Amino acid sequence: MKTFSLTIGTPDGLLFSGEVERVMCRSITGDLAILADHCNFCTALGMGGAYIRLEDGTQRDAACIGGMITMMDGKAHLLATTWEWEEDIDVERAKAAKERAEQRLADSSLSEKEAAIAQAKLNRALVRLSVKNQL
Ligand code: ATP
Repeated sequence: MKTFSLTIGTPDGLLFSGEVERVMCRSITGDLAILADHCNFCTALGMGGAYIRLEDGTQRDAACIGGMITMMDGKAHLLATTWEWEEDIDVERAKAAKERAEQRLADSSLSEKEAAIAQAKLNRALVRLSVKNQL
C-alpha cells in the first residue's frame, strides 16, 4: 500500500517520524482517516483514539487529547496537546481519574465551569480506557 510521511509531536517534542499507510483519529467534527495522496487539509483534533498503520502493516494505537493535524504536499503533521501510546497508558490511573470525575459530577452544587472541567477529565479517562479496551 502507498505510504506517506507522518510526524507526531506534542509541546514536549517529537514522538514519531516515519512512513505510514494510514492515520485514523478524531477531529472536532468527527472521525478522520488520511491515506497517501489526500488533498491539502488542516483540522483541529478532538479527544479520541488514534490508530496509525505503519509501512509494514502493523498498527500503533494511542490516546490523542486535542491538537491539530495537517496534510500538506503529501506530508502529514499531527501536533497533539496530549498524546499517549497505548503501551504507555496507565490503566489504574485512568480508572481512578474516571472515578474521581464521576464522583465530582454527581455533586449537584458544582458550578457550570467546575462541571465542564470534571466532564473533560471524565472524557480523557474514557478515551484512555477505550484505547486499552478497558471500557
Ligand atoms: P489525571 O487526573 O490522572 O492526572 P488527567 O486527565 O487530568 O488525568 P492530563 O492533564 O490529561 O491528565 O495529563 C497530564 C499528563 O499525564 C500528560 O502528560 C498525560 O500524557 C499524562 N497522563 C494522564 N493520564 C495518564 C494515564 N492514565 N496514563 C499515562 N499517562 C497519563
